[in-house]
Amino acid sequence: IPHVDELTSSEVHKKVPEDPDPPVKVVVRIRPAKGLGIGDTSVSKVSKNSLSVSERNYTFDTVFDSDSTQGDIYQLVGAPLVKDALSGYNTSILAYGQTGSGKSYTMWGPPSAMVEGPSVTGPQGIVPRIFQNLFSEIQKEQGNSDGKMINYQCRCSFLEVYDEKIGDLLDPTQRDLEIKDDAKNGFYVENLTEEYVTCYEDVTQILIKGLSNRKTGTTRINSKSSRSHIMFTCIIESWCKESSSKCFGSSSKISRISLVDLAGFERNVLDDASRQHVKEGKCIKKSTSQLGRLVNILAEGSQSGKSDEVPYRSSRLTHLLRESFGGNAKLSIICTISPDNKSSSETVSTLRFGQRAKLMKNEPVVNEI
Ligand code: ADP
Ligand code: MG
Repeated sequence: IPHVDELTSSEVHKKVPEDPDPPVKVVVRIRPAKGLGIGDTSVSKVSKNSLSVSERNYTFDTVFDSDSTQGDIYQLVGAPLVKDALSGYNTSILAYGQTGSGKSYTMWGPPSAMVEGPSVTGPQGIVPRIFQNLFSEIQKEQGNSDGKMINYQCRCSFLEVYDEKIGDLLDPTQRDLEIKDDAKNGFYVENLTEEYVTCYEDVTQILIKGLSNRKTGTTRINSKSSRSHIMFTCIIESWCKESSSKCFGSSSKISRISLVDLAGFERNVLDDASRQHVKEGKCIKKSTSQLGRLVNILAEGSQSGKSDEVPYRSSRLTHLLRESFGGNAKLSIICTISPDNKSSSETVSTLRFGQRAKLMKNEPVVNEI
């Protein structure tokens, strides 16, 4: 005889059928408690897709408990992205959460783990796992002798948004780049370094170089807290070697993978002693509040199709996310939260952002050229 809780939860699942492939997927990851005693946390996972904070329940696509592994996150968020990117969809992952909640750990993991390579249970982040699998899929495809002769060309860039300026993480002398965004030339960051990559090792070199150039500052919460938003982009172009061969679908495709790790948005960045940090805090606040505003507008849905009315240009960050938020990309948002009671107002604010973001109406399409 099933337990009463099981009955109700299966009834809920019947009423709301789960879409395994929604255009906007929002997951939550709870960071390990690290030394917190029982009683210091009011955050707990309730079911596979819901959690409770101070006795209120919040539902998402998936909730990852504090004992979830990097491999678990990859399986649910990264593996579908690899498939979509190779099929010609634009794809994005955004990590959102207060400083110290595990955004960077989830996205990149420690650089040593990138170099060491594959390990199911290791600390390697979702981004290196994505590229490991992407190149292994490409190699499989190219090694196929069944006539599907597809060529792939991949190029990567890595930028940061710091003090409302776009800096090139692959060339730190470039500190204030412009976004070009017009019907004729499309959307790109002018003069941003692009490097061609043909294997996993090429990507990890770029990741390690870029991450080491990232701006960091000192806050009271975490001495290495990140003060900039960073975005790693990979553009994949594919075409048939011979147009007459048995190529599936259209012969040429282009897709963009955008991977974004935000600065911490917590209020106390403004309490920092030094004036530089006050300025940084204001810029971080500006761009994250513009992001919140953008999400609110897109969640209301009244603007669909009228891109002039959506305030993408209100900050560098929102402008860079034009394709990912309300655009044609498949988007996954990883909300990272701390289980610590002292963080509960930031935690609730992160979860509310995630819930509103889930209401955005992205319209993914395969980019054929
Ligand atoms: P954020 O980027 O959100 O500021 P970090 O990713 O830097 O936070 O995480 C803060 C600290 O917590 C780091 O030392 C990181 O290694 C550790 N950490 C975060 N999430 C996890 C996790 N799921 N498992 C183990 N350690 C983690
Ligand atoms: Mg970080």
